[in-house]
Amino acid sequence: MLDNYNDYILPTYAHQEIAFEKGDNATVYDKNGNNYIDFTSGIGVASVGHGNKALSEAICTQASKLLHMSNLYYTEPQQRCAESIVRLSGFDMKCFFANSGAEANEGAIKIARKFGEVDGEVKRYKIVTLKHSFHGRTITALKATGQESMHNYFGPYPDGFVYADTIEQIETLIDSHTVAVMIELVQGEGGVEPLEREKVHSLASMLKEKEILLIVDEVQTGIYRTGEFLASNLYGITPDVITLAKGLGGGVPIGVVMSAKKDIFSPGDHGSTFGGNYLSTAAANTVLALLEKEKTSGQLDRTIHYFQEKRDAFFDKHQQHFSKCVGSGLMLGIRCKSDELLAALIKSAAICGVLVLKAGRSTLRFLPPLSITTQEIDEGFERLDKAVTAL
Ligand SMILES: *Cc1c(COP(=O)(O)O)cnc(C)c1O
Repeated sequence: MLDNYNDYILPTYAHQEIAFEKGDNATVYDKNGNNYIDFTSGIGVASVGHGNKALSEAICTQASKLLHMSNLYYTEPQQRCAESIVRLSGFDMKCFFANSGAEANEGAIKIARKFGEVDGEVKRYKIVTLKHSFHGRTITALKATGQESMHNYFGPYPDGFVYADTIEQIETLIDSHTVAVMIELVQGEGGVEPLEREKVHSLASMLKEKEILLIVDEVQTGIYRTGEFLASNLYGITPDVITLAKGLGGGVPIGVVMSAKKDIFSPGDHGSTFGGNYLSTAAANTVLALLEKEKTSGQLDRTIHYFQEKRDAFFDKHQQHFSKCVGSGLMLGIRCKSDELLAALIKSAAICGVLVLKAGRSTLRFLPPLSITTQEIDEGFERLDKAVTAL
């Protein structure tokens, strides 16, 4: 299939040999007409499912009027999008629009660095992040990522990032140059690992006391992925800066930095050609409207409950391969006893017609569309059952 693919595409991914053609909610179809249950939503992006009618209509309607005019002018759907995000989050913040998670994190880091420049007598620039974190692929976001294996080849990197082994260790790494701490509340790539609530609360109050910014990378956890609009809402904390991306555009690239420091940037400090344009914010507005309804109607909570029960039953049945269940909301995982087993299971699953992801710490990861139906969940786990049996 697609014999010439690797003649043209740089080999940065170990991709599976499947090419999809269309989708319907959590079911996708390849070019040979095979169907797959999608427990990945394109790594947490297709939050309202594939082929979503309301989303495709909103995109088409907007495309027929204006796609892009730049941030040199007002962009009305961008304002509405920021209003919705602020309202749904419940936080007193302002938004900056970018195009991806890494770029949103770059914006967050710039906010922290500028805050460290203008606030206090010594310049503060150090940012503490956690081991096993993932913050993106640009040089700075990569350096912010607490995984040594990702810091090969691309140096010199920007200075000022230090890594804590655990959330408790963060305080010991803080000195007079520390300006921010950046965390994921549920580490996604690092193994679908939720931080402990009490520890997050003590971290948040310690940082408040020291006037150090708390940046929460919600690129994966945001937009209802953990069951609340933001994982910060789920944990009941009020960060200073929050980043969003994956699920917000339903497949259209978009990233956001939310900042409680509303006056931190002046014109010229930051910018983006594409960020927050008509296309991406019209899409995001529809995604937000659909998901808000899904949440307030109780449907999202029912889906989460159903999916988790199925996941738990699957885990119980195949305990010889697995060690524990992890995750939150529809950001779920099962720890496998080995990486080899995990790789084999992902392959076998695709052959049996269900798509699943891997994450760090040998984790089988599920990030289904938030709109997945009970029938799709049933079918997906039935196929996953076959995939395990076929190992
Ligand atoms: C995916 C992810 C990123 C990077 O997002 P891109 O859109 O790929 O740049 C950053 N942080 C977290 C927590 C992520 O899950």
